[in-house]
Amino acid sequence: MQILLVEDSPSIRHAMCGYISDAGHTPHVAQSGEEALQMMEHNQYDLIIMDVEMPGLNGFETTRLMREWLGDHWIPIIFVTGKTDDRSVEEGIEAGGDDYLSKPISSIILKAKIRAMARIAEMRDQLREANDKLERLSQRDGLTQLFNRRTFDEMARQQWSLAKRSGQPVSLLMLDIDHFKLYNDHYGHPAGDRCLQQAASALQNALPRPSDILARYGGEEFVVLLPNTPLSGARQVGANIRQAVLDLTIPHEKSPTNQHVTCSIGIATCSYTTGRQLEDLIKHADHMLYQSKTDGRNRVSAEEAGPGKTILVVDDDPNTLQLLTMQLQEHCHIVTAENGVDCLELARNVQPDLLLLDIHMPGLNGLEVCRELRRLPQTSGLPIILISAEDRAEQLRLGKQVGANECLEKPLDENKVLAKINRFLH
Ligand code: GH3
Ligand code: MG
Ligand code: MG
Ligand code: MG
Repeated sequence: MQILLVEDSPSIRHAMCGYISDAGHTPHVAQSGEEALQMMEHNQYDLIIMDVEMPGLNGFETTRLMREWLGDHWIPIIFVTGKTDDRSVEEGIEAGGDDYLSKPISSIILKAKIRAMARIAEMRDQLREANDKLERLSQRDGLTQLFNRRTFDEMARQQWSLAKRSGQPVSLLMLDIDHFKLYNDHYGHPAGDRCLQQAASALQNALPRPSDILARYGGEEFVVLLPNTPLSGARQVGANIRQAVLDLTIPHEKSPTNQHVTCSIGIATCSYTTGRQLEDLIKHADHMLYQSKTDGRNRVSAEEAGPGKTILVVDDDPNTLQLLTMQLQEHCHIVTAENGVDCLELARNVQPDLLLLDIHMPGLNGLEVCRELRRLPQTSGLPIILISAEDRAEQLRLGKQVGANECLEKPLDENKVLAKINRFLH
């Protein structure tokens, strides 16, 4: 073991170094608490033997700082002291020490304590290894070693948020083995298991991008999230995967549709994630998978996610209307109006998911429109973001009084607008 000895007395240092070496370990010497802390930053030790009474930082103070610095990583610390009264022992344990040695030091006791601490440290290492293994196992499916559904859900959610921020397209691919019940019934469950394992590695090999997330979603169902992939790319991936499973040429005598094991694939792509939810994309891909099944299996069906949410944009200034339409039209349906009266009518008839509303308009102004919308049952829950050229905080205060949810300040920066909108469209 690499043992750090923190001791200000040269004679005790000398004796202890001898004992440590005799016991088959390597001593590293620090003459003060300060020096010990410095050494810890650059080296790893397995055990620390610490004098309590030292000029400058004493042993307890040094230990407290060490424990803080080490965080979760535990290294045994043994105090060496002349003071072994109850209070001192208590203080030492409180400070983060693990054991006490009293001066004068007996080499036999020192060696025994080092052995005991080494045993505990070894147990700590084993425990950490077991925990790491458990963590790895809990992320994976036991049969195929692919990510399991829980892990997929977590990772996909992260990618989805990332796509929301970057505005990149996301595709989702669902795959189901065709007539797998018949396969199991004919070849037996163990053969079915082997078939799933083969399919899993074929899928893995057909997905060269490390950012693609492949998982076993259920029994004979697999899922792939393809970040930054438009519909055309996802179709290509789907075609490759379908072919890869077919190329395994696993005989399937009982399949009514093919002599080999095949799979059906459904893909849904979301070019703009604003105002959309991952769950909807999964449902959509599942729906496309169902279509592949009913169309005859061993095929890929893919579709762009349908039109998203509708935003009503109201401003008397045509330039602002044009700017917002440009910024938002790829993400949502945009309906525009140039005055408060039209806004009220459209809000009732179109039933938008969100309203962007200029405050300062001739005739009915934004605040008056807002008050009216809150009164009407069809629009009482409509999220309203006010637009104003003036100080946002003050306008927001006024807006809140009439039931608005948020306020955006001109000039309208695209990223800020999108971030605000995303908070209200679910
Ligand atoms: P379809 O073409 O419509 O998908 O028909 P199918 O028979 O594949 O679909 P169904 O959902 O009726 O049956 C799925 C079968 O997959 C039933 C189940 O026994 C089998 N299965 C699910 N998980 C496993 C597994 O881990 N190992 C094995 N061997 N079979 C499994
Ligand atoms: Mg199935
Ligand atoms: Mg199936
Ligand atoms: Mg105006």
